[in-house]
Amino acid sequence: MKLAIQGGNPIRETFLPYGHQWISEEEIHEVIKVLKSNWLTQGNKIKEFEEKVATYCGAKYAVAVSTGTAALHAACFAANIREKMEVITSPISFVASANCVLYQKGIPVFADIQKDTYHIDPKEIKKHITKYTKAIIPVHFTGQPCDIEEIHKIAKRYKLIIIEDAAHALGAKYKGEKIGSLSDMTIFSFHPVKHITTGEGGMILTNKKEFYERLLLFRTHGITKDPNRLNERKTLWYYDMQELGYNYRITDFQCALGIKQLDRLNEFVERRREIAKIYNHAFKDIEEIIIPYEKKEVVSSYHLYVILLRLERLTGNRKEIFEALRAENIGVNVHYIPIYYHSYYQKLGYERGICPNAEEYYERTLTLPLFPKMSDRDVRDVINAVKKVIKYYRK
Ligand SMILES: *Cc1c(COP(=O)(O)O)cnc(C)c1O
Repeated sequence: MKLAIQGGNPIRETFLPYGHQWISEEEIHEVIKVLKSNWLTQGNKIKEFEEKVATYCGAKYAVAVSTGTAALHAACFAANIREKMEVITSPISFVASANCVLYQKGIPVFADIQKDTYHIDPKEIKKHITKYTKAIIPVHFTGQPCDIEEIHKIAKRYKLIIIEDAAHALGAKYKGEKIGSLSDMTIFSFHPVKHITTGEGGMILTNKKEFYERLLLFRTHGITKDPNRLNERKTLWYYDMQELGYNYRITDFQCALGIKQLDRLNEFVERRREIAKIYNHAFKDIEEIIIPYEKKEVVSSYHLYVILLRLERLTGNRKEIFEALRAENIGVNVHYIPIYYHSYYQKLGYERGICPNAEEYYERTLTLPLFPKMSDRDVRDVINAVKKVIKYYRK
């Protein structure tokens, strides 16, 4: 079959994106109810959403914010990241995982990834610890939880705070326990491509009251009205700005959507895992592709399905294969460009070559479409397109 990029017929007529939300009529109705009410923001839907996610994940406290990025920023504030402090994270993540450290004037430090899981390697974390290290931001890349126990051991030994970037891992489990309550703080994102959506939105979960209170302050300009935190207690109108916070609030109509979406999370995760299984089965015997490595002790919530190309067995590079698949109308993607490759980080002085595994991974990675609303037909189209393109470029 002639490749679409060479003028042949594409595998599908319409473009299939790599991720997409799934919103029901009932959910739309819930949003409209809030729009007709008195409280568009700062009403009771926010609290309800927070409590529901906290209960689902087994965490004590939750703070909903405007985006996952705001959640990371708030967590860095709560962890007291300041000038000269170093925070270790993975280069294979979205830029927000490191930017949040810069927002607090701290220094992101990139530790290389493991070759099989593509997660930050605990051995590499250890190599980068200095007297300035204050925290670690492990990323549960693709939805598969990192080696949390190893990372906890390191954190305990060096007295570091752990902020899990679980934007990919809502609904995932580590040794039988839900992601969300295992570390000092865990953040989620509710962007439309993530497991559940509020349009834009994010949340921080914690079991520590001290973090919880700082997160609440940070979300609303650093302002408090809590009588226990004020000197002038008696006046009704008094409030005090005690820290430099932001307006990172989420709205009630967004939370109304989130509450209903959460009811379907398990279903969503199951469908994601089912599609991943079908892909695994279809690709396991294709020598030119490495399918995702699955650790025994975790349950991945499969935000992403990532394959690695064995370029030594192919006549085309990743760019050619990517473009050939796009021409077939398959919305392949790349997750991620190593964070320090971006020009802003280059200007800060981060050099190429500092994380060789991450850089090699980047040359070979491709993300295939994966979202719960995909039909079996969509899944078949992806498989057929991958087989068609790989066959053409096979050595
Ligand atoms: C999506 C994402 C974020 C940021 O979330 P937003 O809600 O888009 O701000 C942070 N980290 C990772 C790993 C993500 O995938």
